[in-house]
Amino acid sequence: MICPYCEYGRIFKAKIRDCDKKIYICEECDTVWEEQINDETGVGFDRYMKEIGMRGSWDELEILL
Ligand SMILES: [Zn+2]
Repeated sequence: MICPYCEYGRIFKAKIRDCDKKIYICEECDTVWEEQINDETGVGFDRYMKEIGMRGSWDELEILL
């Protein structure tokens, strides 16, 4: 699936290693979604990760494809 924000990057499913949450993330603009992927529900990766107490690094993700 192609990201509705940048209309360029692919969206991957990923697991956050330390808290078992699953998210979707765009490889290009780092927009994150928890469930429904559309152009209104995305959140910036840094902001999303900080809100749940993470550092906001890609190292904290395990890409599931
Ligand atoms: Zn994107």
